[in-house]
Amino acid sequence: MLRLVVVQEVRRLLDQGNLSQRKIATLAGVSRGTVQAIASGQRAIFGRESEPEEHELFKSDAPVLRCPGCGAMATMPCLLCRARNHRTCLGRDPPATPPKRPPRRAA
Ligand SMILES: [Zn+2]
Repeated sequence: MLRLVVVQEVRRLLDQGNLSQRKIATLAGVSRGTVQAIASGQRAIFGRESEPEEHELFKSDAPVLRCPGCGAMATMPCLLCRARNHRTCLGRDPPATPPKRPPRRAA
């Protein structure tokens, strides 16, 4: 599906009326048929939204480490621990206890 911004740009250029449909198709990188369909109203102004920005909490180049709080493999600070701490602060969950792990045997 075409990106919405592309469809909107085609519509805008058509509304300006300075360029031929052929020229608009070339500029926008779409087919002349698409431009013609938008111009005639056969094609509604819809399209694929831009790729959503990755949320800051999930965007990280940090290495994945063993979390000392919950034992999960995670980038630090551990999002799971942050969420659990938040829920504990709100009184929704009892304080977390660290998982019991078997003692590490010497190799
Ligand atoms: Zn954790």
